[in-house]
Amino acid sequence: MRKHILQKIASKIPPFGRFISERDQMREAIDQLSRERCRLLEEVSSITSENLRLQQLLDEKNIGYCHCCRQQTTFVITGNWLRDQYLCTNCLSIPRQRHIQYILDTHFRGWDSLQIHESSPSNDLIARHCRHYSFSQYFESEEEGATIDGIRNENLESLTFPDDSFDLFITQDVFEHIFFPHLAAKEIMRVLKPGGAHVFTVPKEKHLPGSRPRARLVDSEIEYLDDPVYHGNPVGDGKALVTWEYGDDFEALIGRWSGGITTTYVTRDRSLGIDGEYIEVFVTKKPRH
Ligand SMILES: [Zn+2]
Repeated sequence: MRKHILQKIASKIPPFGRFISERDQMREAIDQLSRERCRLLEEVSSITSENLRLQQLLDEKNIGYCHCCRQQTTFVITGNWLRDQYLCTNCLSIPRQRHIQYILDTHFRGWDSLQIHESSPSNDLIARHCRHYSFSQYFESEEEGATIDGIRNENLESLTFPDDSFDLFITQDVFEHIFFPHLAAKEIMRVLKPGGAHVFTVPKEKHLPGSRPRARLVDSEIEYLDDPVYHGNPVGDGKALVTWEYGDDFEALIGRWSGGITTTYVTRDRSLGIDGEYIEVFVTKKPRH
């Protein structure tokens, strides 16, 4: 009733009408500010709890033995993607690198005095321990087998090494970047001595029943079968296209391609700094006969 009377007065006295409408606008503005204040308070509280969570992650560390630098060390977690964010504070290795050296130390005793070749290494974590170590990178436009700036150029799909050259052949996260992995698997078996082994890491998807190419080469042109995904590359422009996604059938596939028998090692042991996603180590042995 009071509002009705005020509106009636306002319609008869214009200045009073302006006053009423300005008052209503201000009330609305105050309401808006109050809602905005609540929203900001909520935002501040969520940022604070996220900070706390990150701080807890940063604080998460443990003492253990690192198979890369061969000493007691502190492992520190710097984020929630353990695969890349669970570091040895001494050698800065990540879980899959420690896992591959753990498998070498436990299943290939004395491995560091064997003939070893590593394809496309991105660090010297393995080289630093070995007496008979060689490595290669792949420079696509250069002659295969040639030495480019002191580095041997090798295409995994057509290696230039003689048969039976190495005791161990190592690749770390390389097989997901090859267009013809069946050729690479076969070539690696060829250059291994009988009884030798290809020891390697590659991301194996958890819920993918069948391995599949993401890109393929047709008449020297790349045909993308899926959105292009890149990982880091130690040479070239620093980008390596993911050409294959491996799934549940990976071991059977690599066995068929290579003619060897593949064993998969799964380890979760924080006292060795081994934990995280996609850190399986695969070993394909070349038959002795
Ligand atoms: Zn270390």
